[in-house]
Amino acid sequence: MNDKQTADIVIVGSGMGGATLAAGLAPTGANILILERGEQLNDTPETRDPRAIFQRGVFRPKETWTDGAGQPFNPGNYYYVGGNSKFYGAVLMRYRAEDFRPVQHAEGATPGWPFDYDELEPWYSRAEALYRVRGALGEDPTEPRHSRPYAFPPVPDEPAIAAARARMTRAGLHPSPLPLGVDIEAWLKRAKTPWDAFPDARTGKMDAETCGLASALAHPNVTLQTGARVERLILAPDGKRIEGVAYRSGGEARTVSAKLVVLAAGAVKSVELLLRSSDRGVANRSGMVGRHFMNHNLSAVIAIDPRAVNDSVYQKTLTINDFYLSDGRGGAPLGNIQLLGRVSGPILKAELKSVPEFALNWVSGHSIDWLAMSEDLPSAESRVTLDGAGIRLDWKRSNWSAHLALVARLKERLRAAGYPVVLSHAFDRRTPSHQCGTVRIGAEGASAPLDPFCRAWDHPNLFVVDASFLPTSAAVNPSLTIAAQALRVADHIARNDL
Ligand SMILES: Cc1cc2nc3c(=O)[nH]c(=O)nc-3n(C[C@H](O)[C@H](O)[C@H](O)COP(=O)(O)OP(=O)(O)OC[C@H]3O[C@@H](n4cnc5c(N)ncnc54)[C@H](O)[C@@H]3O)c2cc1C
Repeated sequence: MNDKQTADIVIVGSGMGGATLAAGLAPTGANILILERGEQLNDTPETRDPRAIFQRGVFRPKETWTDGAGQPFNPGNYYYVGGNSKFYGAVLMRYRAEDFRPVQHAEGATPGWPFDYDELEPWYSRAEALYRVRGALGEDPTEPRHSRPYAFPPVPDEPAIAAARARMTRAGLHPSPLPLGVDIEAWLKRAKTPWDAFPDARTGKMDAETCGLASALAHPNVTLQTGARVERLILAPDGKRIEGVAYRSGGEARTVSAKLVVLAAGAVKSVELLLRSSDRGVANRSGMVGRHFMNHNLSAVIAIDPRAVNDSVYQKTLTINDFYLSDGRGGAPLGNIQLLGRVSGPILKAELKSVPEFALNWVSGHSIDWLAMSEDLPSAESRVTLDGAGIRLDWKRSNWSAHLALVARLKERLRAAGYPVVLSHAFDRRTPSHQCGTVRIGAEGASAPLDPFCRAWDHPNLFVVDASFLPTSAAVNPSLTIAAQALRVADHIARNDL
């Protein structure tokens, strides 16, 4: 390499994995360069306008991928400083202890992790501190052991949600507070909107930019370069060392060399970089790079009661795990239930284009919106591959029967709770929002590209620290687990590589 730009550590991507890893490594004093293809999200009126976000899609990327049948689609995958967490629902929930062990599901068994829950537990606590998670212990029947309580109390239920909670409790369920990373006063001060899927222009969400990156950039040895799109990794002639990365910035091709290279571009884009960087794909002795793509089975479940008014603004404060470890009748696990961010008329209109908005506003004013989430099991045939200059995402959904059973069980309880009309709508394939598993960790290099510390088995100075590493998707939102592992990996790098 003939370029002069150098760093001790180059991190590709400033999302949940990359920003949190940078926060963990910053105190070492190492010279860290974060290359981020996106720019900082501007604070415009559109950031709080549901019509702009959901109907006009103004924040969506101008990008097309193809699915397994060769059909083009525009993926909901975002490129800004802070990555997809800028849009996230800020649910920061731990995997359950059982999720780290092999589990028998309706349509197959999960493999288990190369380490158990207790190994990650201290890092979960640190991640919760970094992302200022609000929550309460002792109410969720599936809650894993916490060595530290939450530092902040839960986001309060709005009155309509407190009433919904009481109805669900009377129907025999155990709703508990959702662990959330949001400063609710600051968020509502900017505008009275929900935060789930609304972009955060630094107005109250605890995300990869406002927490992970802010903590990293407080150190003078950390630099963020935006508008820097990495195109490939540069391999040394020995085929083992990664010398650096090639990227494009302002139309110019550039390179930077580094002692350590960390990919954190997300579970689809990190795969693209590995596959574009050598004929067989970097870190791909196992042939597993791009395989085991997972993305949760998700449905919105809308409970309508014409006699009750839902005048909540944000709604999203409860979770129900009664069917997480089993179906409640001794059968296989079904998944997690949580409230969606408030679904207003303009948001419904994005899906139901022919229905007038006033009618949708009425429905919204008399309904509570739930999200049913079931585990997607890892399958080698569920894949991200290259498609010329583009990406092919052939997601093979699994465990769908468990998801249908979860939706049926939830509907049954909602009717028992007195909601006469309950509708459901499955999320479609164009929303890879919980993408993971494509460059997984494993106890040996024959079946997994990464070791349990996210180091490539084939390349000692390459790490992949984003949702790609997850060997299972569990049935909870992924970000806190990505952040906890990023802090664990940062500690490992600080001890062994610097
Ligand atoms: C609407 C929505 C709601 C969600 N709600 C939740 C929730 O409530 N809780 C939860 O836990 N999770 C939620 N998620 C998922 C969560 O946002 C992701 O799991 C998480 O952000 C993934 O982190 P990551 O580090 O893998 O990737 P990302 O956060 O996506 O970061 C990848 C980064 O890499 C950058 N990048 C990509 N390619 C390149 C390149 N070639 N060169 C340089 N930079 C590059 C991207 O711009 C991006 O900044 C939600 C997601 C969406 C879209």
